Amino acid sequence: MSNEIIKGVLYVVATPIGNLSDLSERAKKVLSEVDFIAAEDTRVTGKLLMCIGTKKPLISYHEHNKREKGEEIVARIKAGESCAIVSDAGTPAISDPGEDLVRLCAEENIPVFAIPGPCAAVSALSVSGLPTGRFSFEGFLSTNKGERRKHLEEVKGYPYTLIFYEAPHKLRDTLSAMLEALGNRRISLVRELTKINEEVFRTTLSGAVAHYAENNPKGEFVLIIEGAKKEDEVPFWQEMSEVDHVAFYMERGLEKMDAIKATAKDRGVSKSVIYKKVL
Ligand code: SAM
Repeated sequence: MSNEIIKGVLYVVATPIGNLSDLSERAKKVLSEVDFIAAEDTRVTGKLLMCIGTKKPLISYHEHNKREKGEEIVARIKAGESCAIVSDAGTPAISDPGEDLVRLCAEENIPVFAIPGPCAAVSALSVSGLPTGRFSFEGFLSTNKGERRKHLEEVKGYPYTLIFYEAPHKLRDTLSAMLEALGNRRISLVRELTKINEEVFRTTLSGAVAHYAENNPKGEFVLIIEGAKKEDEVPFWQEMSEVDHVAFYMERGLEKMDAIKATAKDRGVSKSVIYKKVL
């Protein structure tokens, strides 16, 4: 495809997730030459444009106005204008606004071009040290506990590497829920990619729970978790005594007798065996 900007099309432009140098030459050209830009947050995009020395008409396009704005944007493109869509960071439409606008364009036979670049999920997977051959991108877990549990139960048996996005203030809860639902798998916590405090913490889910019980989660995280293993999955309680195993469930809100029951079920022994241990 030529590098000339075409009228009557949508460009889906990836932008940096921390390091401005990751904005590609092609992205700069598109952002400088399109007629207008649909931006998740016009202030964030305004700053990016300032950094590359350009100014463009911006139209706000986000989760809460995507219906009206989507129609307006499509009408302008159909009238012959060229448009770029950007999110605050990374690739639009990947846990970010853009999916609906691309669908609308596709329905109207408007050509859509990808201007590839940073994506936190793929970058994190590439440095995780976990299998990359097959993976399942799961985005954000719901903040609703029931929905979160359902989502985790659904992916529990996937043999593929799992990729989740998470915000720092929800990390502790999420890791505990993952340990409980998925068992003690390997995890790489990839934090602050391309930024000063960039870090890859390769551990297990129980190691991550213990680490963040002592340390305050800071920055943006991608969680890369190994897929289900049929034969040699290590249960999360493997290195716990029976007493600690019961305490683990009680700390998560179970009554003592229910915690004993859950512990006995995990270990495949009768309730009375565990009961005697915790007396
Ligand atoms: N569309 C974006 C992309 O392609 O990367 C993702 C947008 S999503 C709303 C934001 C989430 O991406 C964050 O909560 C975090 O999980 C992840 N993320 C974004 N920037 C990151 C970074 N520099 N390091 C690690 N994770 C990041």
